[in-house]
Amino acid sequence: MREPSPFWVVKCPDCSTEQTVFSRPATVVNCGVCGATLATPTGGRAKLRGELVRTLAA
Ligand SMILES: [Zn+2]
Repeated sequence: MREPSPFWVVKCPDCSTEQTVFSRPATVVNCGVCGATLATPTGGRAKLRGELVRTLAA
């Protein structure tokens, strides 16, 4: 199965900052502004806490 969009733009649920995150992170991804958790690793695709705004091509 293809993975055409390895990066996601996620909106922070706490401060509405949009941040690019890797779709399969190895560690928890935090908001660069307020430090809220945006994505947690699952071994595959990240579990997002923030809203997925759009995806980015590689
Ligand atoms: Zn934030």
